[in-house]
Amino acid sequence: MNIFQEMKERVTARQVAERYGLKVSRNGMTRCPFHNDKHPSMKIDQNYYCFACGAKGDAVNYVAVLFGLSQFEAAKKINDDFSLGISIENTGIRRKQNSGVREKEKIPTKEERIQFVQKKIGGWVKDAVNVLLRYLRWMEFWKEFYKPESMEAEWNPLFVEALQNESKISYLVDMMMFGTDEEVLDFSRTDGRR
Ligand SMILES: [Zn+2]
Repeated sequence: MNIFQEMKERVTARQVAERYGLKVSRNGMTRCPFHNDKHPSMKIDQNYYCFACGAKGDAVNYVAVLFGLSQFEAAKKINDDFSLGISIENTGIRRKQNSGVREKEKIPTKEERIQFVQKKIGGWVKDAVNVLLRYLRWMEFWKEFYKPESMEAEWNPLFVEALQNESKISYLVDMMMFGTDEEVLDFSRTDGRR
């Protein structure tokens, strides 16, 4: 049995979380400490799982995330704080440490952040343009299909909608396909409300 398995037998995620300040209700629900949780979304017992943000893991994982530690450091902390007396310095663990510890995520450079945002906006624009083009095609269809037979005939609401929106939507499509990054970004921020 390695240290992580032994730890799991000795302490639950819930015990560990409560020790480090989490208030857990009797049914095991609690407000998730890993996102801005207004209502209890996290179930915590042997392991924990947040229904809102998807955070999950065991006792060691909880401490690792909470304090920004590696799995190994987290295990050591629990071992100390709970006086478990598990002997940590043996060869089996060392191997586990090397294979189990993820490298600390490196902080992205400014260029990488910009690239990330551009990629995100790029995907958003593609989706938005697709939706708008589909809508535009419907409006073209409605304009023909629901065209009033005569000036006196009642206008179908879809015909009216098509007349009102067609030029606006065409403009948006143009802007998103050919506009500058700033224009597109501006539009994505306003969510299309103008
Ligand atoms: Zn959460």
